[in-house]
Amino acid sequence: MHALDAIFKPRSIAVIGATTRRGSIGREILHNLFTFEFNGKIFPVNPRHEYIHSVKAYPTVLSIPDEVDLAVIVVPRDHVLQAVEDCGRKGVRGLVVISAGFRETGEEGARLEERILETVRRYGMRMIGPNCMGVIAATPDVRMNATFAPGEPPSGGLAFMTQSGALGVAILIAAQKLGLGLSYFASVGNKADVGADDLLEYWEDDPHTRVIGLYLESFGDPRRFTTLSRRISRRRPIVAVKSGKTAAGARAASSHTGSLAGLEAAADALLHQCGVIRVSTIEEMIDVVAGFTRAPVPRGNRIGIVTNAGGPAIMAADTVEAHGLVMADLAESTRATLASFLPPEASVRNPVDMIAGAGPDDYERALDAVLDDDGVDMAIAIFVPPLMVEPMDVMERITRAGRRHDKAVFSVLMAEDRHYELIPRRIEDAVPFYKFPESAVKVAGEMYRYRRWRDRPEGTVARFDVDDDAGRAVVRAQVERGGGYLSPADTWRLLEAWGFPVCAQRVVAPDGDLAAAAREVGWPVVLKVVGEDIVHKSDVGGVVVGLADEAALAEARRRMDARLAASGLADRVTGYVVQEMAGGGREVILGMARDRTFGPLLMFGLGGRYVEILRDVAFRVLPVTDVDAHEMVRSIRSFPLLEGVRGDERVDIEFVETTIQRLASLVDAVSEIVELDMNPVVVTPERDRCRVVDARIRVAAPGDDGAAG
Ligand code: ADP
Ligand code: MG
Repeated sequence: MHALDAIFKPRSIAVIGATTRRGSIGREILHNLFTFEFNGKIFPVNPRHEYIHSVKAYPTVLSIPDEVDLAVIVVPRDHVLQAVEDCGRKGVRGLVVISAGFRETGEEGARLEERILETVRRYGMRMIGPNCMGVIAATPDVRMNATFAPGEPPSGGLAFMTQSGALGVAILIAAQKLGLGLSYFASVGNKADVGADDLLEYWEDDPHTRVIGLYLESFGDPRRFTTLSRRISRRRPIVAVKSGKTAAGARAASSHTGSLAGLEAAADALLHQCGVIRVSTIEEMIDVVAGFTRAPVPRGNRIGIVTNAGGPAIMAADTVEAHGLVMADLAESTRATLASFLPPEASVRNPVDMIAGAGPDDYERALDAVLDDDGVDMAIAIFVPPLMVEPMDVMERITRAGRRHDKAVFSVLMAEDRHYELIPRRIEDAVPFYKFPESAVKVAGEMYRYRRWRDRPEGTVARFDVDDDAGRAVVRAQVERGGGYLSPADTWRLLEAWGFPVCAQRVVAPDGDLAAAAREVGWPVVLKVVGEDIVHKSDVGGVVVGLADEAALAEARRRMDARLAASGLADRVTGYVVQEMAGGGREVILGMARDRTFGPLLMFGLGGRYVEILRDVAFRVLPVTDVDAHEMVRSIRSFPLLEGVRGDERVDIEFVETTIQRLASLVDAVSEIVELDMNPVVVTPERDRCRVVDARIRVAAPGDDGAAG
C-alpha cells in the first residue's frame, strides 16, 4: 500500500466541518461525495448537528465508531490544528485540508502551518493542502469527488495536479464540457506536505492514468523534479502549464549569460530536457491532453489531410512545417483508390480535397485510404459543415476509420459550439476534435516531438580527466579574497586545469615588456587591455588583433592608450594581455549562470560581440548528457553556420559538444563559480586549432551562494 492511497483510494471519509447551509464549502463537499456515489463510507463531523444531508453526524472524528482512512477538513483556520490532532489520535492516515488562512496570509499563518505539519508528521499521516480545493479519484473503483467544484467530473485517463484552486475549477469545468476524462485530480494549495513530486511518483505506474497534467507556479526541488519527470515522461506524457511567462527574470548582469538567462529560460530548459510538454494556456493544455488521451502517439511526422474545403486545409498545411511535421506524399495506389470514389473535381493529392459535396461515407473511405498508406503516420480530417450534412455523422465515421488504424487521427470540426459538447456524449471514443486547423496541427506536432524525445537515448554524463586540485586552489583563493571576478591569469589557470584549450597568452604590467611577451606567445598577436571594471574591452577600443611584429604592437599600444585616455579610462588600466591569434573558425559563446532555484544554467550560442542582440542561444540545466549537448548545439537558429554554408568548411561540432559537457562538469564540481562566460570560443574545422579567446569567471563571496533568482 502506498501512503497516498489513504488520500486517493480511501474506504471511508470523514468530512470535518460538514454543514447544512447550502452554498457553504462544508456542505458542497459532502454533496459532491454523495452525488458522485463514493464507493465507501462517509461520516459528517459537526458538533452542532445530529445529522447532515440525511446522514448521522458525529461531534468529533474521535467519536466515529468505524475506521477512517481520509479526513477532509473544512473548519475555520483556528480549529484546524485541533482537528488534525484528533485525526492523528483516531488513526486517520490521509488529510485534505481545504481551510485557508495559513502561509499564504503571512508569518502568523506560516507558523500555524508549521505546527500542523509537525502534527501530520508526528502521526505519520500525509496531507494535501492547506488552502486547496480538494481531490478527486474518478476511477470506477473509488469514485470520490472531495472538491467543492460544481458538476460531475467524467472518468478517464488524465491525472491533473494544480497549484491554483481557481485554475483547478476552470480545468474541471472544461473537462466536463469536452468530455475529457480524469483519473485523478489534486489541488495541492500550499503544498505543505504533498507536492508535485509525490504525485508524479504516485501516478507513475497508475493503470488508469494515460497523461499527467500539471499547473505549476514553482518547482519544489528542481533537481528532484528533473530526475522524476525524466523517468516518468518515458512512460507517459507530462503536460505542464508553467505560469509566470511574462515575468521574465531579466536582471542587470555584466556577463552575457547572466543577462540572457532568467527564470523563464531555466524553466523552459528544465521542462524540455525532461520531455515535459510545456503549454502556455489552459486551452492549449486541454487540446494537448485530448490528443494524448484520444489518439495513439504518432510514430513519424508525415501527415495526411482530408478535407471538404480548400481554405482550412491550406491553413493546416502551412503550419505543418513550423511544428516539425511534413505533408505526406501519397502513394500512386492511394491516389487511385481515392479517385475511384471521389468526384473528378476532387484533389487526390495531399491535402485531399473532397470538395463540399463530401458526406460521412466519403470521410470514412478517404481516411481509410490515406491511413492505409505506408507513407502516412497520422491524419487530420477537416470538416466544414454544409447544410445537408450532419456533423455528428461525420465525426462518427472519422472515428470509425480511426479505430481501424493504429495511427493518430485528429479532426477539425468547424461547426457551432453545441456540437463540441455533444461529441463526447454521443461518441465515447471519438478522435480528438478541434475548432481550428492550427490547433490540430500544433497538437500533432507536440505528440510527435514527445515521441522523438521518448525514443531518443538518455545519454551519459561524461567524466573528464582534469587537474581538480589546481582548479580548486584558484577558486578557493578568490573566495578568501572576498569573491568576485578572477583575474585574467587566474581565469586561464582554472580553464587550463579543466582542460579547456585556451589561447596562449601573457599578462604584462603597464611598465612590462610587451614585445618579449609576444615573442613567447608567437607572432602574430592580439593586444588587449586589462582593467578592474573594463568589462567589454572592445567597446572601449581595448582589443587589437593581427599584430605581426614589434612595430605594429608598439603602435597598437600607443593608440590604445590614447583612446583609453580620451574616454577617461587611463587610470583604470592595470595591464595588458598579449595573446596568440586564433582564427579560421566561427565564434561561439559558452556560459553558465547559477540560479537559486534551478542550479547551474548552461548557455550555448553563436558568439562574439552581438550575442545580446541576436539572442540566438540555448539553455540547459544539469545534468547535461552527451545527447543533451548534441541536441543543444543543433537547437540554435544559426546552427547551419557551424555546418558550413556558402562554401565555408564545417567546423568541429563535436568539439563544441565536448566543451559544453566539460563546462557542465566544471560548474557541477566547483559550486563556488556563480557566473562564467567564454565569449568567444573560436571553433575551427580542426580540433587542435579551436581556442577559448576570452573568458570571465565570477566566484561567490564567502558564505554567499551568489546565485540569482
Ligand atoms: P571583449 O569581449 O572584452 O570585447 P574579446 O577578447 O572577446 O574582448 O575580443 C573581442 C573580439 O576580438 C572577439 O570576439 C574576437 O573576434 C576578436 N579576438 C579577440 N582575441 C582574439 C584572438 N586571440 N584571436 C582572434 N580573434 C580575437
Ligand atoms: Mg569577449
